[in-house]
Amino acid sequence: MRLRNKPWAEDKLAQYPQYVVAQPELHKGKWHEVFGNNNPLYIEVGTGKGRFITEMAKAHPDINFIGIELAKSVIISALDLLIEAELPNLKLMNVNANDLRDYFGKGDVNRVYLNFSDPWPKTRHAKRRLTYETFLRVYEDILPEKGEIHFKTDNQGLFESSLMSISRYGMLLTYVSLDLHNSDFQGNIMTEYEEKFSQKGNRIYRLEAQYR
Ligand code: SAM
Repeated sequence: MRLRNKPWAEDKLAQYPQYVVAQPELHKGKWHEVFGNNNPLYIEVGTGKGRFITEMAKAHPDINFIGIELAKSVIISALDLLIEAELPNLKLMNVNANDLRDYFGKGDVNRVYLNFSDPWPKTRHAKRRLTYETFLRVYEDILPEKGEIHFKTDNQGLFESSLMSISRYGMLLTYVSLDLHNSDFQGNIMTEYEEKFSQKGNRIYRLEAQYR
């Protein structure tokens, strides 16, 4: 367990209730109260060290953001970025994406970002991929009708399986790039993994998909 290396992480997360939502189940259906406005809410699932969500929140002050990350030892770095940036439109949640329905009602979330999700390349682990059918159902239950998922990865296998999973689910693919960094896509914000893998020469794949 990664927490073993950073036993103070839990205490630090608890010290910043203005940034880390401690009991997200209390806010189901009323997230506008948490942010103090009725702006749309975008979440990133598996936010890692938080660069993407922090830069997105800086670039889009009229949108609320939540970074969702399972690992305490990782989300602590996202918290450091947020403490530094003091953004009123960004919160963090140290929870498992499996449980998102416990925290968000239908339509509470307006967009889901998935960036460089763990690829789980073995077929027997396919159900753990964050674009597997069961996760698509979770996102559908918290997004409004025609809600969107935006996904990027450098992993060709994960991208292909995600394209299949999303198509089989009946979603509409509204954007697909097989080489994001050499495309005309504007406003890309790099994640930590994206910088690392693109520097190694890996191609970055990106898609947007809409529920029907
Ligand atoms: N998005 C970041 C980036 O692009 O730099 C991090 C990518 S990292 C490969 C994937 C992250 O997803 C890890 O930090 C992992 O702990 C988190 N994660 C994996 N499964 C998760 C789940 N079920 N719920 C929440 N976070 C999860």
